[in-house]
Order: sequence, then structure tokens, then C-alpha cells
Amino acid sequence: MNVEILIVGDEILLGQTLDTNSNFLAKQLAALGQPAHAVTVLPDERDPLLGAFRRAYHGSDVVLICGGLGPTHDDKTKDTLAGFFNLPIVFRNDILEQVREVYRKRQLAFIETSREQAEFPEGATPMPNRLGTAPGIWIEREGRIYAAMPGVPAEMKAMMRDFVLPRLKKKAADRETTRFRSIHTFGIKEAGLYEKLDNRDEIERDAALAFLPSYRGVRLRLTVKAKNAEEALYRLDRADALVREKIGAYVIGAGEQFSIEQAVGHTLKGRGWKLAVAESCTGGLLAKRITDVSGSSAWFERGFITYSNEAKQEQLAVAGELLANHGAVSAEVARAMAEGALEHSRANAALSITGVAGPTGGTEEKPVGLVYIGYADASTVTHRRHLFGEDREVNRERSVTAALLLVLDRLRPAAEEREPQLV
Ligand code: AMP
Ligand code: MG
Repeated sequence: MNVEILIVGDEILLGQTLDTNSNFLAKQLAALGQPAHAVTVLPDERDPLLGAFRRAYHGSDVVLICGGLGPTHDDKTKDTLAGFFNLPIVFRNDILEQVREVYRKRQLAFIETSREQAEFPEGATPMPNRLGTAPGIWIEREGRIYAAMPGVPAEMKAMMRDFVLPRLKKKAADRETTRFRSIHTFGIKEAGLYEKLDNRDEIERDAALAFLPSYRGVRLRLTVKAKNAEEALYRLDRADALVREKIGAYVIGAGEQFSIEQAVGHTLKGRGWKLAVAESCTGGLLAKRITDVSGSSAWFERGFITYSNEAKQEQLAVAGELLANHGAVSAEVARAMAEGALEHSRANAALSITGVAGPTGGTEEKPVGLVYIGYADASTVTHRRHLFGEDREVNRERSVTAALLLVLDRLRPAAEEREPQLV
């Protein structure tokens, strides 16, 4: 089954809105075993839309369209889609009632412009919109499906789950399916993994193998095309076993939901350990990322946000001398912060972050992007030095990831020849 996604909206082409809808739709389709073969972003203009509808008619069985269904003149998707299928627009009282109901439920006065939502292509099926006023449009013609949904992410998601997905699931039932699995590795570079996986030919008899490096580690993706889900799973399992046979020591998790935060939590919990953190330039982001994981109270003890030198001294007992001699951004202070967090908490291990997030505050000796991560437990104190880039937000994110990777590295059983992770 060939599925494509058409994203409609000038705001996306102008960079005002980040297109998160195609990402959501692509994930849903992949989970269904029918990944999208194309994602196209289009302006709110008739001719480009018509062109895309026409091309899709020849290349796809299912066309998911998102955006441009509003009642105002700048939304063109409904009229263009109706025109493409030669469907006259008719007024539907049943849709007007649904729209009025949305207003009633929210106890809002009806706005006359919303009557336009009841103008609907004759012969198309309206997809109810639980959260907004624009109904979706479902059109089936000659074995093809066109489903147009609103651009508002929450409305689109609800419509996709309630209406579109169940129908696509049925249509996909007896078709060839594509299944994939992500295997997350840690402590080894892409090239190292590639070399160790010298059984690639054998693996690829079952599944295509892709290497997806990022500063959080390398993800391996196995992809299988098969007649049905059972066969796909069987082959995925076989390829997965072949992968782990070679690089199992570097695997820290599998699946699309996996995160480093989770792996850290899992590792700490496995030991019955709790973690404390002391943060300077990340201002609480490390604690935030750790506590993003539900159940984190089992392994997260507390966090100190010690932005000023005084806070580092008062809350973590970092010696004033250290700060004066080495500066707040230094290996010595990072280590002292971690030790201090360990001492002043009930945790078994502590992490610290101190750095120059930028864009201001850099010097020749301590440039923007210089970050020290400290780690302490009852038997070890250690640190790592990183030189990230110019961007404040990215530096803060990478600092947090580096800290998570450091604790993971300390607590996981050492894999043979494991290198410090490139962050
Ligand atoms: P529309 O249904 O085209 O009127 O879109 C309504 C609003 O939804 C827009 O103003 C955007 O804020 C948001 N939106 C539209 N398309 C997307 C998209 N692809 N990803 C995320 N948000 C979107
Ligand atoms: Mg729009």
C-alpha cells in the first residue's frame, strides 16, 4: 500500500510553524506497517495543491492531507479537493449541528463564519472533529483514499486515531507489510559498530540494516518487508539476534520509545541506587530530563541548581579557594560539585555540570561551549571535559546528554574496548 503525506500551510514554508504533523503521521503509518513513501509541504494555493493531488493519484493508494480546512478565505484545501474530484459543494445541516455542538459544549456563542464549515463536498464523508469546528474530508475513488484533516495538531491527532487509522488498518490487513526495530547502542562509534558487525550479509538476508548516528549514540534500524506481520516479526527477531551476537555488549535498549533517560533510570534502579545532580549552566535541565521518565522517584533523589559561586559554596560546600584558583568552569569545580551533591543528599551517585553555555561569557581560555561534567559515588570521583559549539540551547542539551552518558558509562558493566561516547 502506497501512502503519502501532503502538508498544507504557508506558515510552514515561511518557517513560522514547525511541521510536527507529518512526523506524527509518519510514525503512525510506520507502526501500521505502511510507512509513507513521500512527505510534501505545500502552500495555501490552488494550483500547487491541484498538482500534488494529481501526482498523488498516480503514485499513491492513500493520500493523507493536513491543513487548510479552516472557514476563512486563506484556507484552500477543501475547495481545491472538491474541485479535483468534481464534487459540488453542498450545505449540510448535520455538519452545522455538529459545529454548533462544539460551541455549546464549550459554552461559547456561535460565530457565523463557522457556518462555512457545513459547506461540504457532495458525496464525500465528513470526519467528525471532536476538538474543533472543521470536519475532515474522506474521499474514496477507484481504490484510492484521500483523507484531509485540520492542521491543528490536537484535532488532526484525534481524527487520525478515531477515524482514519481504523480504516487504514483494515485496508492494510492483507497487504505486504514493512516492520522495523531500533536497537540503541552506546559507547561505540558508527565505524566501530560497522566493523564488528561482520555478519552483515547474513543479517541482510532477513532485514535491511541502517546506521543512525547522533550525539546520543548510534541507533541501528532493522527493516523487514514481508507478506504478513508474523513473518516480519520472525525475521526481525532472527536479525536482531544476529546483531546482538556481535555487539550485544553495546546495546542499551530497543524500540521507538527508548531514551537515554530511561536507560539511566533502569540502570540505577537495577542497582537500587539513587542519583543527585548539581547543575550550573543547565539550570535544572538535567533534573528535568531525568524526571521526564515516569517512575523516576525510584532513582532520582534531588537536584541543586547552583548558578552562582555563592550557591556552589553554600549548597555544595565547594571551596572558595577552588573557585578563586580555577574558576567556576573547571574540572576541579565540577568534581567538587559532584562530591558536594553526594555529601549533601541521600543519593548513591551524583552528577554535576558546569560550563559556558554562551553566547556571551566566553574567554580565550574558557570559550563558549566549554563544559565539565563531574561524577561522584562512594568509591570514585571523575570528570569529563567537552567543547561543544556556539548555540546556547544546543550546548545545554548536549551537556545534559553528556552527563547522562557519563553516569551510564560508570554504572554499566564495561564492554570490551568501549570508548568514551562522542557527545
Ligand atoms: P489550518 O488547519 O491549516 O488552519 O491550521 C491551523 C493551525 O495549525 C496553524 O495555524 C498552525 O499553527 C497549526 N498547524 C498547521 N499545520 C501544522 C503542521 N504541519 N504541524 C504543526 N502545526 C500545524
Ligand atoms: Mg492553514
